[in-house]
Amino acid sequence: MVKAKESVAAAAEYVAGKQTAGNGLAPVRLAANETPYPPLPSVREAVVEALSGLNRYPNPSGARLRSVIAEHLGVDPGQVTIGPGAGALCERAVLATCSPGDELIYPSPSFPGYSAYAGVSGAKAVRVPLTEDGAHDLAAMAAAITPRTKAIILCSPNNPTGAAIPEAELRGFLAKVPTECLVVLDQAYVEFADPDGCARGHLLLPDHPNLVVLRTFSKAYGLAGLRAGYAVGQPGAIDVVRKAQTPFQINSLGQVAAVASLRAHDELAERVAEVVAEREWLRERVAGLGLAVPPSHGNFLWLPMPDPRGAAGVLESQAVLTRPQPGGLRVTIGTREENERFLAALRLLD
Ligand SMILES: *Cc1c(COP(=O)(O)O)cnc(C)c1O
Repeated sequence: MVKAKESVAAAAEYVAGKQTAGNGLAPVRLAANETPYPPLPSVREAVVEALSGLNRYPNPSGARLRSVIAEHLGVDPGQVTIGPGAGALCERAVLATCSPGDELIYPSPSFPGYSAYAGVSGAKAVRVPLTEDGAHDLAAMAAAITPRTKAIILCSPNNPTGAAIPEAELRGFLAKVPTECLVVLDQAYVEFADPDGCARGHLLLPDHPNLVVLRTFSKAYGLAGLRAGYAVGQPGAIDVVRKAQTPFQINSLGQVAAVASLRAHDELAERVAEVVAEREWLRERVAGLGLAVPPSHGNFLWLPMPDPRGAAGVLESQAVLTRPQPGGLRVTIGTREENERFLAALRLLD
């Protein structure tokens, strides 16, 4: 039998959000933080047009997409690398910096991918519990840094709790991290976040040569099925990530769809605003049922509860798919109709 290296054999497998309800009913899919809207017509058109060129390799470095991203963020194209999702880029960042015997610090609970990346790298996972209100305990994370710490992951807004890191706190934390240690700031949901409460990491790059910010087209841009994300950082940090990548990271369709999405940014921003408005609408109603539901900066709500699996089961019996995690239930914001279906199912919980 093939033997995996020890850290891989021990690694927890990533469990994706449910896609079908066990009872065969058409599911309301609120388990994977996807957008409920289909791709924009202009994005579809760009993808269909690119189909005729599929006999050719994509641009190896994604030059066009990188330059459009750079323009969008106001950084240099050399500060951008692209990959098949923010998850894959995070994995490369961890593998590029962490070996067995090293330490990787990240918050808990947070995105389950981090444990998987730590496992594959063989580094020791140092999980720092969130505060009572679901925020990063940045003081505890800074205190956990040792000479063996090679990378730290921050998730803002945090999946699943929805809390975000404001700029002053992020700056304060970064000032305590040795510059040899990579800080990966995962901002998969930043488009949904209130700018006052959630730092935009790319604006801090000039002051922090060890910071890499991850973004994705999977969530706000509605392209989860195409797998496209990017990382930005100063050359000294982003080059470390890029070197650990293999070429042709995003396929041609993903690249053109991502370019077309950034071109249609205003239209997508309207959709994001709708999701944010729905989030506040739903939060008010969930709170009205007497359930705990902290404010969220993402396209999801976090309902802390003692038996999230049981609750998810009751919701699934109504074909409403959510994501149970230790300590709570995460529900993605859907259309008004989907959110109403969720609320109706939620009322069945005692
Ligand atoms: C969804 C998610 C990702 C993965 O995004 P992809 O770009 O689809 O790989 C990464 N980080 C967090 C926190 C997420 O919730």
